Amino acid sequence: MNELLESLGVQPRNSGACTGSWIQTSGPELVSHNPADGEPIAAVTQAMAADYEAVVAAAERAFATWRMMPAPQRGEVIRQLGEELRANKEPLGKLVTMECGKIYSEGLGEVQEMIDICDFAVGLSRQLYGLTMHSERASHRMYEQWHPLGPVGIISAFNFPVAVWAWNAAIAAVCGNSMIWKPSPKTPLTAVAVQQICNKVMERNGLEGLFSLVIGDNDEIGERMIADRRLPLISATGSCRMGRRVGTVVAERMGRSLLELGGNNALIVMDDANLDLALRGVLFGAVGTAGQRCTTTRRLFLQKGIAADFTAKLVKAYGQVRIGDPLDENTLMGPLIDEGSVQMMLDAVAKVREQGGEVLCGGNRVDRPGHYVEPTIVKTTHDLPMVKEETFAPLLYVIEFETLDEVMKHHNDVPQGLSSAIFTDSLITAETFLSHRGSDCGIANVNIGTSGAEIGGAFGGEKETGGGRESGSDAWRLYMRRQTNTINWGTELPLAQGVKFDL
Ligand code: NAD
Repeated sequence: MNELLESLGVQPRNSGACTGSWIQTSGPELVSHNPADGEPIAAVTQAMAADYEAVVAAAERAFATWRMMPAPQRGEVIRQLGEELRANKEPLGKLVTMECGKIYSEGLGEVQEMIDICDFAVGLSRQLYGLTMHSERASHRMYEQWHPLGPVGIISAFNFPVAVWAWNAAIAAVCGNSMIWKPSPKTPLTAVAVQQICNKVMERNGLEGLFSLVIGDNDEIGERMIADRRLPLISATGSCRMGRRVGTVVAERMGRSLLELGGNNALIVMDDANLDLALRGVLFGAVGTAGQRCTTTRRLFLQKGIAADFTAKLVKAYGQVRIGDPLDENTLMGPLIDEGSVQMMLDAVAKVREQGGEVLCGGNRVDRPGHYVEPTIVKTTHDLPMVKEETFAPLLYVIEFETLDEVMKHHNDVPQGLSSAIFTDSLITAETFLSHRGSDCGIANVNIGTSGAEIGGAFGGEKETGGGRESGSDAWRLYMRRQTNTINWGTELPLAQGVKFDL
């Protein structure tokens, strides 16, 4: 383990703030534990207000020079970041697994996602297009330009400890912003490792303060950050509760927030579906990452004709899920992040039982060191109060339905709106699901599960999921400000709408 940490520049005790140079932080010590066995991995001395001030000052200085660099040259720096990530894919993937408990292939997948978004951002650095418009006034030209915003605050959740930072940072960087990252206090070491990688790239390019890190608690650092007028954009990923707070504080100061919050994702299986495909889709969606993805399948709607048979097959498949050490390549489901999450899952199962849900399998803690639970299936109806909530654990509600109209109503009847999926071989059913009469989510899939998005699309959800979009497509616009320019190259000064104002 020590060799792995050393290769990534993670010490037994690390500073909690960095601008390219590490700051000697003096806050309380934060020890990061491996959720697979509860053992400590290494510690971080958290940042305090003065450390935060040093980080923001460096990010402001970096912004002043970075924004002057042509965007394709900024892209070249991100290309180098992608190369460094490629070189460190295995150790960083392993550290992701050790610190947040997802299985090794998903740890590697997370680093691959960082590499992919860097590649995407390099191309984007030559495509930050604005429109030109025809002016209604003679000899006038109108067009729009996109300018960087300033230092961007990135707040990330524990379950994607490095990829979510990269979705934001790679895109925000080619747009000309500097970045300050506050990672989850549950996964500080992966953030330290990524900062070390950024430091190499910054040093090679004579940069300081472009990518900065500040690890600290929500009151000392988080609240300071979201209220800080020097950060025009706060991109925050996490629970709806956190997003409501961040959104309110940032709006109060007329800042911009990009919110990526909780989901309560449903998968619908129609009678005419390819059931083998559906079963695999449900299994990865509901059990993968131990139910700790924002896009995890939490509600499974089964049409009446296939419901009993499909449920029986699913229960059987749940019994075969190999639970254990996430670094073991045979393992399919690792631990939850911590003891708090185990308790939350057990409480949720108890409440579901109280409300009338029938537990078909699972529902218990797994008797071994670490924070393991059994993947759980509950048979219920859509109106059970717990079904409306996101329980961030492998807890799946199975609900039977008869018609497409009925299931669409129930599907959309939750506060969250992140990901959704339908399995069907009917074109009409598939298109109805994707239409304005269908899913109200930011992501809607056909014959694919709810989780495992690619970076090329804009990622995010509606309603209490926060409305933000990150990663691909034109999500870059959220990291820039639009300026509309009109140039008069004639000798008259005509006014728009034919207004006359002559002496
Ligand atoms: P969380 O809300 O507990 O914490 C997320 C981050 O917000 C952490 O860095 C935390 O320190 C910070 N934070 C909390 N309160 C804050 C405050 N007042 N000011 C500033 N920062 C504050 O979430 P979590 O348990 O780490 O992650 C799980 C949640 O994240 C789930 O709800 C999941 O669905 C969601 N999530 C959403 C997406 C998405 O893209 N929509 C992606 C990953 C996770």
